[in-house]
Amino acid sequence: MKYVLFIIGIILSLFGFLMVTGVLIGITNGDPEYSLASKIVSMIFLGIVPLAGGIVLCIFAAKKWRKAKVKQQICGKCNCSLEPGWTACPHCGEKVSLTN
Ligand SMILES: [Zn+2]
Repeated sequence: MKYVLFIIGIILSLFGFLMVTGVLIGITNGDPEYSLASKIVSMIFLGIVPLAGGIVLCIFAAKKWRKAKVKQQICGKCNCSLEPGWTACPHCGEKVSLTN
């Protein structure tokens, strides 16, 4: 589940990147169907906004992920990671200190 935000962020930024590229190609090709102003407006709303949003989402997900990693407990005896809330290591039976 912790990958979902990352995946959404990556998809959003990829979509934005493709839209920016597509509109830039449209501008350089001089597509007469749309005016330059409407191309720039669509590039901002369909390209730059999702691109920035996707990057922000990725940063947010990375921060959340790091927080979750810090909370994870590690057995002092056999150095295995333990699920939060466990009071003893399932491998060696060592009592887990709840300091972090
Ligand atoms: Zn252990």
